[in-house]
Amino acid sequence: MRQERIGWANGILIDAGNTHLLLDPTPGRRLREDWNVFVTHAHSDHTHGFNTGAKKYSTKETLGIYEALKNRVVKNCHTLKIGERLRVEDTEITVLNAGHMLGSCQFEIATPEFTAIYTGDINCVDTLTTTAAEQKPCDYLIVEATYGHPSYVFPRRSTMYADIVSWTMTEIREGKLPTFQVYSSGKPQEVVRLFNVYTKIPVVCSPTIAKANSVHDENGVKLEYMDSSTSDGRGALKSGGCVYVTTSGADHVPRNASRAVTTGWALREAFRRCTSFPLSSHADHDQLLEMVGKVRPKRVYVFTGYSDVLSSEIEHTLGIRAGPLPMIAQTKLLDFNEPAT
Ligand SMILES: [Zn+2]
Repeated sequence: MRQERIGWANGILIDAGNTHLLLDPTPGRRLREDWNVFVTHAHSDHTHGFNTGAKKYSTKETLGIYEALKNRVVKNCHTLKIGERLRVEDTEITVLNAGHMLGSCQFEIATPEFTAIYTGDINCVDTLTTTAAEQKPCDYLIVEATYGHPSYVFPRRSTMYADIVSWTMTEIREGKLPTFQVYSSGKPQEVVRLFNVYTKIPVVCSPTIAKANSVHDENGVKLEYMDSSTSDGRGALKSGGCVYVTTSGADHVPRNASRAVTTGWALREAFRRCTSFPLSSHADHDQLLEMVGKVRPKRVYVFTGYSDVLSSEIEHTLGIRAGPLPMIAQTKLLDFNEPAT
């Protein structure tokens, strides 16, 4: 295969002969309508493709969360189910579960010449809201390395759930309002579910998180919570004895809040004026290495995070060629793109 058939060009570019696929594009370039753009999940650093004029593909859940949070309708988007196969010209695309959040997926691209899997963000263990990512053989694996450093090996999920519940109960006993500041989708729903499953503690969510919660409800992830903008929600926050889940950017939190964050970075970083739990929706170092070992591609392209560290380990411990995605020359892209606006 020619080197430039897979590379980085404002997103992951796969040149499949008669068709060009762009996965999780970044901002900065307007795309023509005949481009095929794929969005892996609803986190905002992966959803720029929804703003392009290209033909768009994502799961129904990803589109639903995006539209609910942005309060807009995306045009020209074809929704897919996990496990579904789609044909674009002579290329077959299969949607694989990524285990990162509701609706998150990997894309397997099978051309007459090669198969490639782009993982997007991936998690290889079950959680209370997702099941572990699928792992399938392929020729070329394009994998994230957010936590691809050997120092990032997360504790068992059940241990982290128990730690979160224990801390929360202590804070409530001391008259505090345990307040989790998280992204608007993915992690907060896992946190809500955690309290629903293991405790009887009422949960109050900020209106933004409540929007993403309702898409989870519609798609089989049942969540019990109160919206903080309702009288029930306001009453619960006032009387205490509950948990508050809000976004990390929220500047206003109640005065008696005792803040907590849930992120993989908590393994090695301290967070000012808040408690941290290393509950991550990404694969840790060991999961990533194990996954690559199982998939055993001919070549691995590693992106984001500790990509250099993970690439070197894949080469030395697994004997598989690994490195960054090659940059696709802008001159080549000009054949397919309109100029940036
Ligand atoms: Zn993500």
